Amino acid sequence: MRPDLRLETLAIHAGGEADAHNGAVAPPLHLSTTFKHGPAAERRAGYEYQREGNPTQDRLETALAALDGGEGALVYGSGMAAMTAALEGLPAGSEVLIPEDCYAGLRSLGAEFLPERGVTLRRVDQCDATAVAAAMTPSVRMIWAETPSNPQLRIADLAALSIIAKQHGALLAVDNTFATPMLQRPIALGADLVMHSTTKYMGGHSDVMGGALVFARRDARLEKAAHRRHITGNILAPFSAWLILRGLRSLPARMAWHCANARRVAAFLAAQSAVETVYFPGLATHHNHAIAARQMSDFGGMVSLTFKGGREAALAFAGAVEVFTNATSLGGVESLIEHRASVEGPNPVSPPSLLRLSVGLEHSEDLLADLRRGLAALGR
Ligand SMILES: *Cc1c(COP(=O)(O)O)cnc(C)c1O
Repeated sequence: MRPDLRLETLAIHAGGEADAHNGAVAPPLHLSTTFKHGPAAERRAGYEYQREGNPTQDRLETALAALDGGEGALVYGSGMAAMTAALEGLPAGSEVLIPEDCYAGLRSLGAEFLPERGVTLRRVDQCDATAVAAAMTPSVRMIWAETPSNPQLRIADLAALSIIAKQHGALLAVDNTFATPMLQRPIALGADLVMHSTTKYMGGHSDVMGGALVFARRDARLEKAAHRRHITGNILAPFSAWLILRGLRSLPARMAWHCANARRVAAFLAAQSAVETVYFPGLATHHNHAIAARQMSDFGGMVSLTFKGGREAALAFAGAVEVFTNATSLGGVESLIEHRASVEGPNPVSPPSLLRLSVGLEHSEDLLADLRRGLAALGR
């Protein structure tokens, strides 16, 4: 690929070379688990066994590295598998600073599984770079950022975090699932590692699960992670890789529409007297709006809100909408709504009146009419 191509063009062409044998323009789906080799296991085209690598996966990894501006990428069976690989790969005794508001799976990983590997997670307010600097100790080997965060859409200053990480010889890793590389490119801001749940916007149609790590540099860390994936078997099925690659082709167009719809939804909700707070980095009232405006090209498709009427109001609202579907996950073409505290298990961390919206690609007037249906249910 030419190095001067813009992201919209890369999203369509990266990893998309026509098939060398038959000229097929659409990428072929290779399901073969094994690849013919010579009598002394001489490889023909670099492949041996699907768990180690395969042509469909390679196309996706090429495209993901190009979009995030990294030198290499590795894909996994889910976002959590990618996250686990990144954190378990740290040396025993490592501490990782994580944000106060973050994906619930990260907290569970830190509470239940990482301590067995000698890795501990410590929560710190990453909206405040001085708090992060003050939290650094020699055992902190990584700052794990998530911005915008799930579900409170908090914003961390990635350029500032990268300076702090470098000063202490630590790595900066960023969960870039909410923004996608279309809106935010952490490696250009100094990150060493980017993680994606490709289940969300990249797949884009709520029908494929996957995860990815994008590495700023093609070095020993990438090699070790690739070997670890080969041996632990934490791979992505070729059909899933094919679907995610297909999703990437329309990512720029979809993200632009998600962002436009979410801006309208956030502005509408912010004007309602029953609504207590709207969490959306595009609103001038958002605590770190200026940082978001600087490090993101747009504000994304996720909007959270709380109600003055508390938990009961949130549940009444979620029960009355018809176009928004009550379901977990995000980033698909259809709009979803979720009462986060109800899905967070026995000790929820989200405010009891918080609803999270994944604003889809429907007509924005239909979405606003649906939100009016939700508001009308509050008085009942
Ligand atoms: C969904 C999600 C994950 C986990 O990804 P899965 O594909 O569900 O395993 C991690 N981080 C964020 C921000 C997510 O939204």
